[in-house]
Amino acid sequence: MIIDLHCHTKFSDGELTPEEIVLRAANRNIDVLAITDHDTIDGLDSAHQAIEKYSLKLNLIDGVEISTWWHGFEIHILGLNVNRADTQFQQRLSQQLKTRENRAHRIAEKLEKFGFKDCLKEVQKIANGQCISRVHFAKYLLSLGEVNTIQKAFDKYLGRKQKAYVSPNWISIEEAVNWIKEAGGQAVLAHPSRYELNNKWIRRLVDEFSALGGDAIEVALPRQSKNETIQLAQYANSAGLKASAGSDFHRVSPYTELGRYAPMPENVDPVWSSWQEIQRFS
Ligand code: AMP
Ligand code: MN
Ligand code: MN
Ligand code: MN
Repeated sequence: MIIDLHCHTKFSDGELTPEEIVLRAANRNIDVLAITDHDTIDGLDSAHQAIEKYSLKLNLIDGVEISTWWHGFEIHILGLNVNRADTQFQQRLSQQLKTRENRAHRIAEKLEKFGFKDCLKEVQKIANGQCISRVHFAKYLLSLGEVNTIQKAFDKYLGRKQKAYVSPNWISIEEAVNWIKEAGGQAVLAHPSRYELNNKWIRRLVDEFSALGGDAIEVALPRQSKNETIQLAQYANSAGLKASAGSDFHRVSPYTELGRYAPMPENVDPVWSSWQEIQRFS
């Protein structure tokens, strides 16, 4: 059985539409897929419609990746199996999208000071009506030839503490966990080793997340060494948390693919161990 509990569509910073994502997942024989766009669940309806339209054998988990602010770091919390019809949850997420919009204005102001004229307008064009991500700014800088990779745009301008970085007013981890729980979902701490935190701080983050009622942490991710996986499994087990797995797929590239991530270790409790639907699959 192939499970992928983390990916993005055009509704945030991914490049495929929800329809293209579910078709690609089905083509790659994925059984269970969670779509987890940044701070929005608006792409989920069309993903479900596409599954029906093409009679795909794919179990779609309704998900989201919520941005939070913790001691000066942007920490991502995945919500899995959230109720997408929950109007309170929808309203709460639209508050995050406002924060995102506000941040986009502030980033654009900074970039305009560096001479990138009409920055916001151009980035809005790239985002094509969707909420603006730093990736859209990175693509803009790339299109100007200012940088030659997205990564360099983050290294020079958009990443933490770089020239055009702004501290966003994201909600706290506690709020994100509560929002997800109140929408009937499980809260999963995304990619714990990708925040520029040292081991002591990662442990602190994982323990705090567990104390706040978090359910799992991501353990099996792409481009990850065996040692990293072992370390993440230890964090999960010592904090009494389950383990999740996903590709964090954004776009087709030689390095990223739906369903592709490091093997899940045997000594963890998978977040899907209690999911009825999946038990029927396996
Ligand atoms: P945002 O959600 O607008 O803050 O944008 C963060 C997104 O940028 C992440 O989800 C990644 O998809 C992407 N990204 C790519 N490279 C980097 C990087 N070096 N640092 C932070 N984010 C990056
Ligand atoms: Mn992203
Ligand atoms: Mn993330
Ligand atoms: Mn992600």
